[in-house]
Amino acid sequence: MTRVIDGKAIAAAMNDRTARSAAVLRERGVIPALAVLTPAGDESANWYVRSIERAAAGVGIDCRVHQLAPAADAALIRSKLGALSEDPAVHAVICQTPLPGGVAVAAVGSGIAAGKDVDGASPVSLGMLAAGLPGAFPPATAAAVMEILRHENVPLGGRRAVVIGRSTVVGKPAALLLLAQDATVTISHSRTRNLADVCREADVLVVAAGQPELVGAGHVAPGAVVIDVGINPASGGMVGDVSIKAVTGIASAITPVPGGVGPVTTAQLMSHTIRAALGIGLAR
Ligand code: ADP
Repeated sequence: MTRVIDGKAIAAAMNDRTARSAAVLRERGVIPALAVLTPAGDESANWYVRSIERAAAGVGIDCRVHQLAPAADAALIRSKLGALSEDPAVHAVICQTPLPGGVAVAAVGSGIAAGKDVDGASPVSLGMLAAGLPGAFPPATAAAVMEILRHENVPLGGRRAVVIGRSTVVGKPAALLLLAQDATVTISHSRTRNLADVCREADVLVVAAGQPELVGAGHVAPGAVVIDVGINPASGGMVGDVSIKAVTGIASAITPVPGGVGPVTTAQLMSHTIRAALGIGLAR
């Protein structure tokens, strides 16, 4: 039996806790505030930003969206992030991609102060995560992977975890977080040889490659837990990086796409925003 993990239910429970904390802050006269810097006119960014706005409204976080001019360069984007981050009324700052001119988030994220960097965009946040220092947030997607594993009571200590993907936003921080929980971690990527063999070693397989249905039956050991971080546009919706059909009956549990990691990531952003407002940033 393969259990399909209900990301929406996990997100709803997280959002309930977040809303209660937001209400406590508001009673104290603090309005938790999230600033979103986003490119103008990008359809997928707009879609994602609207889902953040909806989630923020639902939990009592004030969300302000700031659009970037298409001609904005790295220096301008960094200084805008810096200005938002310096505003004492703003507790949390995120930077939505794709940035104009193909600017990488890592190149501008240092504009955000670590305590307000709720999506772990700054190299400082990633460095603090790697060093095991408190006071910084991991990227929300990587944190969502860990929250799902925690919620599902998946043991990690001494277990084999394989991460597919080495991106700064998912693969690398997810590997660091798994390592911090005493998993034996392998990071695989587009140059990995015999990917299926590597993946079959995993008790926990985290897939963040951006390749539709990359993972099939041959990649999954019986009883493994599979977390699918992929979001790939497909006709009439989206598909993940894992063929859920192929691994059903082999994996013990799997996250669906949509309805798995996605909603938990948004809930994680909200939770991080409240922590930032409370002044309790956490690298874990
Ligand atoms: P994400 O934002 O989900 O991390 P990116 O597109 O930024 O996705 O990164 C894709 C990652 O997936 C890269 O680290 C790359 O090495 C890895 N990857 C891409 N294709 C494959 C593949 N066929 N096999 C294994 N890893 C892959």
